[in-house]
Parts: sequence; C-alpha cells; structure tokens
Amino acid sequence: MESTSADGETYTPQRKTPKMCQHQPPCPTAESADREAAQPLVHFPEQGWSLLCNGVLLFEDTGELLPDGRVIAPHRPLTAGRITTAA
Ligand SMILES: [Zn+2]
Repeated sequence: MESTSADGETYTPQRKTPKMCQHQPPCPTAESADREAAQPLVHFPEQGWSLLCNGVLLFEDTGELLPDGRVIAPHRPLTAGRITTAA
C-alpha cells in the first residue's frame, strides 16, 4: 500500500484528455514519444496539418502542437550523406 508520493512525479488528474482514440489497440498518447504514430482523424493538406486521434496537431514540417499547449519544434529527418557542392 502506497502512502507517500515522494517519487517526484507530477500528476494532474484534473487535466481532461478528450477520449478521441477509438482504435484497438489504442494509439500512443500525446505524452508518448511515439505520438506521431497515432491515426490522423482529419487532414488538411492545403493548410498543412493533421489532427491525430490522440489530440496532437501534426504539421507537415513535422512540428507538433500538443493538446496541453506545448509546441514541439519541427524535427524533419535530414538526408544523411548529402553533399552540397559550391555553385
Ligand atoms: Zn487512435
């Protein structure tokens, strides 16, 4: 039986997470490092973003806006080994 909370973890039970994901097995949550693997609910290619079922807004430049308002900078993988020659 646990009676202490001295592990330094911050848990905010009052934060409501919309139950958007209906998939089985459930998609990664917005808190997961694998959040981009969630299924897109809506996709607006002309506006350059998708809404994933975990509430993450995924932009086409790989930037992300999380449901709690955090912004993830674009992290598009760069082409390895590309050599730019002087023009
Ligand atoms: Zn899902």
